[in-house]
Amino acid sequence: MIDYRDNGPIAVIGGGLAGLSAALDLTDAGREVVLFERRPYVGGKAYSFQDPNHDVVLDNGQHITMRCCTAFQSFLERIGCADIVRYQDDLAVAVIDPDSEGHRVSVIAGGGLRGLGRLGRQLFPAPLHMFPSLVTYEHLSVGEKARLALAIEPIRRMSEFERMALDRQSFADWLREHRQTERAIDRFWDLIVLPTCNDRSKDVSATQAIQVFQEGFSRDARAADIGVFVRGLGEVAETAYRRLGERGCRMELNTTVRGIVASEAEARTVHYGRDGSLDVSAVVLALPPKHAFEMIPAGWRRREPFWRLAQHEVSPIVNVHMQWDRPVMRRDFVAVLDPDAQFIFHRSQIHGWPTPPHWISVSLSGAHELVELPQDAIVERVERAVRRALRRTAGAKLLASRVVKEAEATFRPKPGMNAHRLRPRTSIRNLVLAGAWTATGWPATMESAVRSGRAAAEALLEEQDYRP
Ligand SMILES: Cc1cc2nc3c(=O)[nH]c(=O)nc-3n(C[C@H](O)[C@H](O)[C@H](O)COP(=O)(O)OP(=O)(O)OC[C@H]3O[C@@H](n4cnc5c(N)ncnc54)[C@H](O)[C@@H]3O)c2cc1C
Repeated sequence: MIDYRDNGPIAVIGGGLAGLSAALDLTDAGREVVLFERRPYVGGKAYSFQDPNHDVVLDNGQHITMRCCTAFQSFLERIGCADIVRYQDDLAVAVIDPDSEGHRVSVIAGGGLRGLGRLGRQLFPAPLHMFPSLVTYEHLSVGEKARLALAIEPIRRMSEFERMALDRQSFADWLREHRQTERAIDRFWDLIVLPTCNDRSKDVSATQAIQVFQEGFSRDARAADIGVFVRGLGEVAETAYRRLGERGCRMELNTTVRGIVASEAEARTVHYGRDGSLDVSAVVLALPPKHAFEMIPAGWRRREPFWRLAQHEVSPIVNVHMQWDRPVMRRDFVAVLDPDAQFIFHRSQIHGWPTPPHWISVSLSGAHELVELPQDAIVERVERAVRRALRRTAGAKLLASRVVKEAEATFRPKPGMNAHRLRPRTSIRNLVLAGAWTATGWPATMESAVRSGRAAAEALLEEQDYRP
């Protein structure tokens, strides 16, 4: 083993959650770390901003977490920010069908229903704890509900090996093979696949979607309890930034890395800003695949594993933050069977903001069509959908709105993409990869980002005998 410590600090490139998590582990292991972030703030895809016209801090996009996201949770605990998340006592997602007679609302719940409290969870092991709420789920026919078991049971029993073998198949095809109707895919399965994988089942690898159901619904009856952020999401990255500073990590914000120089299969120098350069002992490349590809020294880009970075595509998310003159919803959030409303969050209630006005955020995943539209057109469509979904909007006035488009929100977990989700180690010995898109097995989430950062730091420390 070679000890590279004398050759300079470790460069962590990218100040998203993956880079922050890698930097935390490396500084904790006593390494000298320099973190480069091209923006004036850290947080990457998970940040907040002050609305220029109103006295509120909005998130770029509504984020949620779940109890099964244990690496993210322990990251929050490590940096001292765990109280930013409030978990539901029991999973409960109200699903509205605006087109149904009587405008039906049905609740998918993990702990029983309608006064039954936690009975479901106490009586049945996962995933059967969902059983009482699925029986009463009104947006499917009795036959469709009965047939859910034909897919749920094989998912529960499936081994990791069997799941990995399904990567070339779309989840929708797999569901059809397991006798799920198009309606069931649209009105039940995609309710979960779309927000977690950021695309519909027809465009998502069966391996990826099944991982979500196994992790969230099959292993532990509490795993899918949803956690919302009671303060601006940006606080997570800001707190991590402060902790890293306290641990001696040097952070170069507003600093774009232009390239990495490697020789003899080792990264030697990082070029940044207009004319900066830094000799490094190792590099953690914590960027989205396209950006990571651009960093790879030209002679290496066609080789394994780096050419695979260029195979990735992206999937957009659009968020519409709306300010109303009166309360338009009661719950913290609801799901809507309408592609233009999807998930609506009651921001004022979740954050405890003084009202009026009343803020809600509409989160639209897999928004390939919407993201191309001008802001006004998006607001018009989404307002119409929100008015159809929430009956309390009758007579209410929309005072203001703000659209945040994240065109490259996540990698696209299409069938066949697993082979292109890379492990941290590369053929350049002291260059490791991190990012929500790497081979964590998880979809593009904060959990995946944090896991990837930890795995990258671990790989580097092992490879280079870096442990003190
Ligand atoms: C709108 C939206 C909603 C989401 N909702 C959820 C959710 O509900 N739950 C959930 O778990 N996840 C959600 N996600 C996904 C989650 O936010 C991401 O998976 C995660 O934050 C990605 O972290 P990362 O560090 O891998 O990448 P990024 O956050 O993309 O970080 C990469 C960083 O590298 C920087 N960078 C790029 N190029 C350079 C360069 N040349 N030099 C220096 N720095 C550079 C970028 O500025 C960025 O800060 C959502 C994402 C979006 C956009």
